[in-house]
Amino acid sequence: HLGRIAEVDGDVNAFLHVDTEGALAAARKVDADLAEGREPASPIAGVPLALKDVLATKGVPTTCGSKTLENWIPPYDATVTRKLREAGVVILGKTNMDEFAMGSSTENSAFGPTRNPWDRDRIPGGSGGGSSASLAAFEAPLAIGTDTGGSIRQPASVTGTVGVKPTYGGVSRYGLVAFSSSLDQAGPCGRTVLDAALLHEVIAGHDPMDSTSIDAPVPPVLLAAQAGYRADLKGLKVGVVTEFTGEGYQPGVQRSFEAAVAQLKDLGAEVVEVSCPSFTYALSAYYLIAPSECSSNLARFDAMRYGLRVSDDGSHSAEEVMSLTREAGFGAEVKRRVMLGTYALSSGYYDAYYGSAQKVRTLITRDFTAAFEQVDVLVSPTTPTTAFKIGERADDPLAMYLADLCTIPSNLAGNAAMSVPSGLSDEDGLPVGLQIMAPALADDRLYRVGAAYE
Ligand code: GLN
Repeated sequence: HLGRIAEVDGDVNAFLHVDTEGALAAARKVDADLAEGREPASPIAGVPLALKDVLATKGVPTTCGSKTLENWIPPYDATVTRKLREAGVVILGKTNMDEFAMGSSTENSAFGPTRNPWDRDRIPGGSGGGSSASLAAFEAPLAIGTDTGGSIRQPASVTGTVGVKPTYGGVSRYGLVAFSSSLDQAGPCGRTVLDAALLHEVIAGHDPMDSTSIDAPVPPVLLAAQAGYRADLKGLKVGVVTEFTGEGYQPGVQRSFEAAVAQLKDLGAEVVEVSCPSFTYALSAYYLIAPSECSSNLARFDAMRYGLRVSDDGSHSAEEVMSLTREAGFGAEVKRRVMLGTYALSSGYYDAYYGSAQKVRTLITRDFTAAFEQVDVLVSPTTPTTAFKIGERADDPLAMYLADLCTIPSNLAGNAAMSVPSGLSDEDGLPVGLQIMAPALADDRLYRVGAAYE
């Protein structure tokens, strides 16, 4: 895999940092364990992995795709990182991403865009474009992403790979640099549903270091994936979300989705239409809640504690140093969101914007609750279009935000969701993804349906 990275990553740009020494040391340790007859630490001991650069890695740079953290080397491991190391997983390096995970194309990285291996003039999705591109380019067989509004699933969809956003609280956020704390969730990415399940079991579980971590058994995702490959879907009820169809969806994506639904029926599932009327407002609510939380979370980048500090002649006040540093360190999208969020949270506007968005969030959760009284899983296209051209939406934030139309409701409700490849669009030959959504703590349903479908 290091050889493959050397061969293609100059062009793909999936990695911000390749940790050759660390990877070889981890691999040698697994070899030594095997040679000395010790049990491998996990079923994926020795398997290489690409880690999104938003998770802290002790002694290895962690930039979040931002100039602000360009030279930051964390003194500790995120819980996800620690679990990977303990499982004997070989961390190849850190992957490219939209700055602080804000974006849908990886073009907001301060270190240049990642290219989609299917067509290198196109985006690999975002914010976790580096992780998904590394899988599609065969630079790594496993990857970790994070999903606040779709950043695991939308990149998986446009690169023809599998990506899972676990139930909120299912995977620890300790050491995951916060964008929007009530939405952020790390999860597994792979080229097959089974690979994602093996990785899911390694990273999930309760963590006292994260106050929102769920203290409950990890859903049996591996058993569900294994069972799914051998079974049909008889007895399963699948709901097609009526709001996620029609105008704005590419005809090729729509046809791929209809074929996927037909395949689920062939497997024996009962398919019904389910209306979730509040999902129409999910995007608007998200773009108030996420920027609000980001404006608060990013206050820590004050030029005093981490990374970049700009002070040209050294005679500035603390406020001036802070403002010079933020001006130089943050990109346009991050600044836009900090301003939006600060505005939405300010007194006099709080109730009208942030307060209303939180109410919409409750309505979306209720829509899910009502839907899951009728069906076991919901399905939709993962994203309305296939990979767009690099630069195509760069000057139009609203067009960019539409990429997350179908993924955001599961974040707002804290539910589990997966994107699984559903073939190539008959319009442009590019990958399309099927989104499967399940209730909180029922992540195993995603794997059963995903494996049967795959
Ligand atoms: N694309 C969405 C955004 O820009 C989602 C990001 C994410 O899931 N990290 O906020």
